[in-house]
Amino acid sequence: MKENRHVRILAGFTIAYILLALSWWSVLLWQKNRQVHELQLVVHSLREDLGTADPSDRARIDLRHRRQSRMILGESVFILLSISIGIWLMLRGFMAEFRIGRQRRNFLFAITHELKTPVAAIRLILDTFRRKDLPPEKSGPLLDSAIRETDRLADTLDNLLLTARISHTYQPRPEEAWLDDQVTKWMAGPKRQFPQRVIEWELPEEPLPLQLDWAGLEVVVRNLIENAIKYSPEKGKVMLVVRHQDDGLQLVVSDEGPGIPDLEKGRIFDMFYRSGNEDQRETKGTGLGLYLAREITHRNGGTIRVADQRPHGSRFIVHWPVHHEASAGRRR
Ligand code: ADP
Repeated sequence: MKENRHVRILAGFTIAYILLALSWWSVLLWQKNRQVHELQLVVHSLREDLGTADPSDRARIDLRHRRQSRMILGESVFILLSISIGIWLMLRGFMAEFRIGRQRRNFLFAITHELKTPVAAIRLILDTFRRKDLPPEKSGPLLDSAIRETDRLADTLDNLLLTARISHTYQPRPEEAWLDDQVTKWMAGPKRQFPQRVIEWELPEEPLPLQLDWAGLEVVVRNLIENAIKYSPEKGKVMLVVRHQDDGLQLVVSDEGPGIPDLEKGRIFDMFYRSGNEDQRETKGTGLGLYLAREITHRNGGTIRVADQRPHGSRFIVHWPVHHEASAGRRR
């Protein structure tokens, strides 16, 4: 880090020196050109005194001076501009590399924490069971807690495996299922993990059996719901609304948290992106959830975007195309 700072200071000095030197040489050349012009005028007037001057010489001298002045000015501005653009491109690349490096470091910290914490908690619970013969009123909550930690570990591992697969082997796998069955199944996990939270959902009047990549859509909704819970206050409501649209489904996940600043809205879907610094951050996560949500949605031909929720909070809006509806069979 310290080494990096030294390199940056040195690079800054070198760039400033190049720009200053170039400006100085341009001014110097301009002055020399003017001096040459003045000398040529002196020689010309001496020749006039001696009667050997050609009357058209004066106009030629002035014309040459004007041309050279224009050339010096034009070339200086062009070189300065080219160097400035080059430096700007270099700095942009440098900043991007710096950002990626920081995000990778943050990711390593986060993933170590995300894997170690549930394992340590489960181990502690198992140790407690081994050492003590617990009555059911004490063992019940401990078992619930162990299941919650296992779910959390499984979610993190699912995200990691999917991220590794997404750019190579991931393929949407359409299957036939009923919308309401699927949504009820998805919401059971968060309801169990966060029994104290208000988590609600709204479905179309007539949920239909649909042919789509339900496993992919589940990952998208799971990550959006997890974020909505994680980034909003205990009392805030988390809501999933599903609607039929002409060419597919619209899913909206909203929360009553602080929302996402406009400047960050374009970056939260980047791989490893998490706002703030890993050392100061209090929420858990790896920066993969929204990246996966966007990739999977795009692979299925859909779109995902974020908007503000009034009076405060975020709304993630997913459009998921359904190319052909499943044969409306009888519900089991
Ligand atoms: P993670 O939650 O693991 O950090 P994500 O990719 O799911 O990674 O989210 C990226 C970032 O987007 C988060 O770090 C957070 O800053 C922001 N974010 C995502 N969802 C919400 C939300 N519902 N409310 C506020 N901020 C959010």
